[in-house]
Amino acid sequence: MNCCNEKPIIGIYSGEKLCKNHFTEYFENKIFKTIRQFELLDKDENLGVALSGGKDSLTVLHILNKLSQQNPKIRVNAIAIDEGIAGYRDKTLETAKEFCEKNNIKFHVFSYKEEFGLTLDEMLKILDVKPCSICGIFRRYLLNKKSKELRFTKLATGHNLDDEAQSIMMNQMKNNLAASARLGPKTGLIENDKFVQRIKPLYFCTEKEVMTYAFTNGLLDDFNECPNAVHSFRAQVRDMLNEMENG
Ligand code: SF4
Repeated sequence: MNCCNEKPIIGIYSGEKLCKNHFTEYFENKIFKTIRQFELLDKDENLGVALSGGKDSLTVLHILNKLSQQNPKIRVNAIAIDEGIAGYRDKTLETAKEFCEKNNIKFHVFSYKEEFGLTLDEMLKILDVKPCSICGIFRRYLLNKKSKELRFTKLATGHNLDDEAQSIMMNQMKNNLAASARLGPKTGLIENDKFVQRIKPLYFCTEKEVMTYAFTNGLLDDFNECPNAVHSFRAQVRDMLNEMENG
């Protein structure tokens, strides 16, 4: 069933097909509901948003920036990590920088090279490891460290429903069920002041919905994927889940 006489751009799980305007309303309302229901934001926040320049992080930054414009006590900053992946991260960081300049958002960039002495590409020349296994650990460490230094009250990330489903399946396959228990729209060690609490406003949005929102709202016009992603365990699990979903 179509939502109205306008051309539909996406079908949602209820079976309804939505036009651009109705989809934008549905998508944004879903995120605002997640924020309310899981109390992701307090009245006064100095928020950090982890920005990679991809569709998920641009979408979450765009939505939180909208909220910030309605409520000046919610201050929004972007933070990016430059791992040093030639031909990929330089492009996405350029997109991220342009977005922040256009929307007047403070943009902080930190690099592996400055913090650890080597880029990821350089590390991979001397270490016999899978790229994502070290890259993910260094990025989480740096994001937390810099968020503390910048006095962010919370760190928002662009994780979507597909990412979370993949994480649950990966934990299951690695027999690490305790890690799945720590997932959710609001994670992080709330009681430990060494960690900045993480929030995931896109938690109930599918990858397809985020992609549709990002492109139809002009947040990005190109799709970039890290060249190392194809070798990751996550990519294998993602492909397996997509095959199952497509039947
Ligand atoms: S796909 Fe892997 S190597 Fe590439 S940015 Fe993500 S974690 Fe790092």
